[in-house]
Amino acid sequence: MFVDKNIDKLDWKKTDYMMPVIAQNYLSGEILMHGYMNKKALLYTIKKKLLTFFSRTKKRLWTKGELSKNFLHVISISLDCDHDTILVLVKSIGNTCHLNRISCFNYSFFSYLFLYKLDNIIEYKKHDTLENSYTKKLYSSGTARIAQKVGEEAIETVLAALEKDSINLINEASDLIFHLLVLLHNRNLCFNDIIKNLKNRMKN
Ligand code: AMP
Ligand code: ZN
Ligand code: ZN
Ligand code: ZN
Repeated sequence: MFVDKNIDKLDWKKTDYMMPVIAQNYLSGEILMHGYMNKKALLYTIKKKLLTFFSRTKKRLWTKGELSKNFLHVISISLDCDHDTILVLVKSIGNTCHLNRISCFNYSFFSYLFLYKLDNIIEYKKHDTLENSYTKKLYSSGTARIAQKVGEEAIETVLAALEKDSINLINEASDLIFHLLVLLHNRNLCFNDIIKNLKNRMKN
């Protein structure tokens, strides 16, 4: 867990000892929820590595997830430029909003975020024993068959790229990305492993 070295510079007086806190998903960047911390809540959060607010409704420390078990595991704690807001990057377990949504805010407008959601859905399907979905069947067919599907979709993408019209290219590229994600998850990898690797290459 990373804690900003300027944490002692928080302007508690200015915020009436109730520091605004933003919880953000450390991978997708989604803003999950907003709350307040007093000094005790901040110390407790650092100690337990679970995001803990001071609930103005409950009038006590409130660890998000204490009942629902949808905890927010703290990755980093940082401050804004004038030290009157805390940003907490978290790994979220399940839904954060009590209305059973990932976030208390609506994120349907952000296109790229869908790749993150798809990555999660594909992982979830692996553990979903009830459903007889295409993804589930694909996992059951084994590594060789999944790899073969990726090969087929890659060839179809290449052929579609040679056509004037883009419709087939969009469809085949979609198939390719979907099957590639299944291949990665089948090996217990995820899209972030690829992103991390691409980022590393940029450094060289
Ligand atoms: P939890 O901390 O998830 O166990 O939820 C405990 C209670 O806190 C819920 O019954 C709600 O009243 C409230 N609550 C949970 N999540 C939120 C949220 N994201 N924003 C506001 N209130 C919440
Ligand atoms: Zn500020
Ligand atoms: Zn909510
Ligand atoms: Zn295809």
